[in-house]
Amino acid sequence: MPLESLVDHIDELISQITNLTSNLQNIPYPRVKQNIRFSGQNYVNGLKIAKEVITNCIVKRASLLSSVQRKDGRTLPPEEIIRSYWLDQVSGCYRTVERFNTDITTQANPSMPYELYHWLFDLFDRLGLDVTIVLQDSNQYTNDSFEKAIVEPLMPLLKVAKEPLLPGSLLQVETKDFVNAYPIKLGYVISFIKGEACNPLLWPLLIHEVFHITDKEKALMTSHNSPTKGEIPILHENKTVNSRWISEIFADIMAIHYVGPMYAFSLMDYFERVPYVQTIQYPEMCVRLYSVYCYLESVRSTYTDIVHRCLDSFKAKIGEKVLEYEESGELSEEKKEKLEDIYQKISGWFPLLRVNSFKQTLREYVLTAKSVGFENRTNSKFAPFPHLVFSYDEIDNLIFRDRISLAIHPNILLNVILSNLGKYNRHIHYDVLVDSIKKWKIKQAWERSIQNLK
Ligand SMILES: [Zn+2]
Repeated sequence: MPLESLVDHIDELISQITNLTSNLQNIPYPRVKQNIRFSGQNYVNGLKIAKEVITNCIVKRASLLSSVQRKDGRTLPPEEIIRSYWLDQVSGCYRTVERFNTDITTQANPSMPYELYHWLFDLFDRLGLDVTIVLQDSNQYTNDSFEKAIVEPLMPLLKVAKEPLLPGSLLQVETKDFVNAYPIKLGYVISFIKGEACNPLLWPLLIHEVFHITDKEKALMTSHNSPTKGEIPILHENKTVNSRWISEIFADIMAIHYVGPMYAFSLMDYFERVPYVQTIQYPEMCVRLYSVYCYLESVRSTYTDIVHRCLDSFKAKIGEKVLEYEESGELSEEKKEKLEDIYQKISGWFPLLRVNSFKQTLREYVLTAKSVGFENRTNSKFAPFPHLVFSYDEIDNLIFRDRISLAIHPNILLNVILSNLGKYNRHIHYDVLVDSIKKWKIKQAWERSIQNLK
């Protein structure tokens, strides 16, 4: 049979992926395993679609055509027919199935710690979104639905399957919808830069991707009360570009409300590390930085302590950058006004999404502390709130000096790190942070089980 080696190869990949996802002993968390298995099933279905198109469409059609006599009385062998009509699709198929295999392999063994899933799951749960996500090594921060990651690369093959007429003849064949036969279930792949996987200072960029997914799942930007409807300021005269840019700004503003000032640092640090250019997808750097700067301005007067500590160490830096943009003319008064207006409208959405702001996360930490009877341990003037289990300085000492992991929400820990960047060392504190997320998760589960007993 023609293309036998390709079909054998696809079969081999199917059994490899099936083996990989049924043996995930290296992953200690059932929910993470479950998501990776879900993804594996999608990739296996993608491979089955590729195999079906190759065997049931291309090879079958080539053998049909090979029995047809040509004008010169000759018949052509199926291999030659495939070469003349479907060479691109067949060689593209090799690349696609290989990519599927690479993708699911890095999802099963990502460079990022599995613990980060807990942080993202927690946010999805708070948002009331039951979506499957998997983390994947890449060269950028982005999110794609499984549909985009799997069905889109298969499009050239699927087009062949949908074509009823055999090329160079009048013969008709049955068309088939293989995506229906092997459905790709809804979910998302969140990609991150592999080299930065163990850099906690850039982890908050994952939260930006979560809010993009929220936007897609809840159709926020297209809903009737979306800030893009009505009098949203125009940043670009093209409607599609404008709405993509607003979506970017939306994800930034939501991320900073949730993560706190640390997100502004991550964004700025990312812009400094990775060449970032304005495209039809992404607005200029100054637009995004000014949008998060609006948050820093707005929280300045509302609450103190930990936020102020974080702001003190960082706001000047982003402020300098904003000033540079203003002086160079990139950030005009008119643009600033528009961005402030967008900030007001989008940040008004935050409470509606049922997710804790950074300020609420701090408060929740205190309340949980109270409910388990640890109140009044400290009254340090630097504590985020007077009755915190650990004061700001205690957290600082435990993390930086004693390198002890703490069961505290990652958003709080990341902001404490931001306010102490001088003491922070990626190689030393990475494990402390990862273990802290693990402890925080365990504490949450424990508290939940106590609640259920009551
Ligand atoms: Zn984005």
